Amino acid sequence: SVVSPRGALSQLTPYTPGKPIWEVQQELGLERVIKLASNENPLGPSPKALEAVQAWIADSHRYPDAHAAVLKNTIAGAHSLQPENVAAGNGADELIKLVSEAYLDAGDEIVIPSPTFSEYEFGARLMGAGVVSVPLGEGFEYNVQNILQALTPRTKLIYLCSPNNPTGTCLRRDQLVQLLEAVPPGILIILDAAYSHYADEPDYTDGIEFVQKGCPLLVLQTCSKIYGLAGLRVGYALAPAAIVAAVEQVREPFNVNALAQAAAAAALTDSEHIQASRACVARGREQLYGIFDRLGLSYTRSSGNFILVHVGERAGEVYERLLHAGIIVRSGVGWGLPDYLRISIGTEEENRLLGEELNTIL
Ligand code: PMP
Repeated sequence: SVVSPRGALSQLTPYTPGKPIWEVQQELGLERVIKLASNENPLGPSPKALEAVQAWIADSHRYPDAHAAVLKNTIAGAHSLQPENVAAGNGADELIKLVSEAYLDAGDEIVIPSPTFSEYEFGARLMGAGVVSVPLGEGFEYNVQNILQALTPRTKLIYLCSPNNPTGTCLRRDQLVQLLEAVPPGILIILDAAYSHYADEPDYTDGIEFVQKGCPLLVLQTCSKIYGLAGLRVGYALAPAAIVAAVEQVREPFNVNALAQAAAAAALTDSEHIQASRACVARGREQLYGIFDRLGLSYTRSSGNFILVHVGERAGEVYERLLHAGIIVRSGVGWGLPDYLRISIGTEEENRLLGEELNTIL
């Protein structure tokens, strides 16, 4: 006889990450495969992070620091906060799950923009909570009134993703202020700022100034994007101490491994690599805009290291043909955007090869 898992599991949609390079190499017998599907850092990891991993690897028989003290101090110092304002996770993904476990009971609700990163919904469904999606407007802009109208007495969390994955659009600073003022107490606002380093608009905020002021806000960050450590899995949350304490209550003691802790602390202070990564993405964005303009493809201008491109009804075919040419991009199907592709910004050469291939296909 079959033992039934919890009912909430039937509500979960499996995560569909970008195909890994090795899989495409094996499946299609290709040698050169370019991955522009998971918004990774095209320049690779910080060399200082690699050195830190080397220094720690011989101690792999030891448990990591359960409190990630050095990492938390580094993060706190970088943001003029205290270590009590920092929670570290096995990727921002884990923190989303921990926030869900700490704050959601069955029957509660979360409010999310749509389309957005899938894990907010996953965390809520896992706990048996409901998900209220607020569609982004024309041009995928945020609308504060629509978010406020979605709140009910059951709302517990509001997720804002800025720059938003997959659209690249941002919540303006004045919109966050409006939300912080209008949202009733008892609802936690979470600002996922995973791509904040690539946003250069003057009205952008990564939310940290509001955490510094003690607002009921949790800012999510990751070392997977500009810090180039997606494979090591480190994310962090910044929030008032009471909120961090709740997240800490549901955390496993050794959730961030020793190599990841050391690498993240090094990467966070490698300003040279951060600057180079930001500049590479800024140049690459313009390069890709130029390529899409020449091909007559419309796109949403992005504040992230990826661009949502409108390809039209051939999007599925273009995705497959790019894949067979050794270029992995992300289909919009998972976001209910079948006519779109989300393309991560690569090195100049990778972007150029993408342009050449798109030119052949279209
Ligand atoms: N938030 C957003 C908006 C993301 O796009 C991603 C990664 N795709 C994450 C969080 C998860 O990051 P991590 O690799 O730290 O789990």
